[in-house]
Amino acid sequence: MGVKEHILVVGGAGYIGSHMCKHLHAAGYTPVVLDNLERGHRQAVQWGPFVHGNMDDIEVLHDVFTRYPIAAVMHFAAFAYVGESVQDPGRYYRNNVAAPIVLLQQMANHGLNRFIFSSTCAIYGEPAAVPMDEAHPIVPINPYGRGKFMVEQILDDFRAGHGIESMCLRYFNAAGADPDRLIGEDHRPETHLIPLALEVALGKREALTIYGDDYPTADGTCIRDYIHIEDLARAHLLALEKMKADAVLSHKYNLGNGSGYSVKEVLDTARSITGQAIPARIGPRRPGDPARLVGSGALARRELGWKPQYPDLRSIIETAWNWHKNNPNGFGE
Ligand code: UDP
Repeated sequence: MGVKEHILVVGGAGYIGSHMCKHLHAAGYTPVVLDNLERGHRQAVQWGPFVHGNMDDIEVLHDVFTRYPIAAVMHFAAFAYVGESVQDPGRYYRNNVAAPIVLLQQMANHGLNRFIFSSTCAIYGEPAAVPMDEAHPIVPINPYGRGKFMVEQILDDFRAGHGIESMCLRYFNAAGADPDRLIGEDHRPETHLIPLALEVALGKREALTIYGDDYPTADGTCIRDYIHIEDLARAHLLALEKMKADAVLSHKYNLGNGSGYSVKEVLDTARSITGQAIPARIGPRRPGDPARLVGSGALARRELGWKPQYPDLRSIIETAWNWHKNNPNGFGE
């Protein structure tokens, strides 16, 4: 085998980016991580070189693009808290929109032409119908979702103007952890349902608050489509292969399982897996939470050949639990 192809993974020290690196390495690539460690963890970078820096630092980008033979760029370095984006929109637009523009411009200047973007179901806003497919109206309702959609549109312009081919993968609820237990989810602060429930199981928190039980769903709690991080990473690899083969059919794909689970179902499954009571109390609704978010992955299945390996909630929570149990303090910083 010749020189391994290098893939720049921006945000490769974070939750989704680090799992991506493990997959890239297993598939024969060298992932080069660019991360400023504002939200990522140095210990999560285990499969290739690490560059400490910002994605909009022109000197750092020049250095990376001239030092490594980068075949494609994958971008995972966005802030991802909806509530925070409402309170501090400038910060979100700066990091999630302005910074990637610099990155794309530097790619164009260096003749790089493949980009894979972490997009989100938050671009759709309130669901008009479920499961949501790519033809669903795009009406984001917060700065996080709006910023992601802006980048999707900017990518269309960079394709037209600079020939940068791109794919936008719109995730539903990323969850689970590396089955080999080397890496997992460690957000500071943690806001996501599954890791919070597991922290209660570990005794790190006393109880969980269910954000509303008066939604128009069977048990009154919100329904979400949980997608295993392994399946997300696989979809990126498939997208990369399509780009390398010049066989791109669509530029935007939903990554969802097409089935949803309620907050109460998540808690019951976590109780069964951990053997812990996981006390939960009912609290008010969280602003901006739709009752039901379920995504159709049919287009990705058809065009990318994507087939989720962990479609059931139990296996998703099991891998997450294995990581949390072994790493009760996460990456421990
Ligand atoms: N949720 C909850 N209690 C929590 C955290 C989340 O009831 O402490 C609910 C939340 O309202 C949503 C679901 O769990 O319906 C998933 O939320 P999460 O923050 O994990 O992901 P999001 O859907 O916001 O991307």
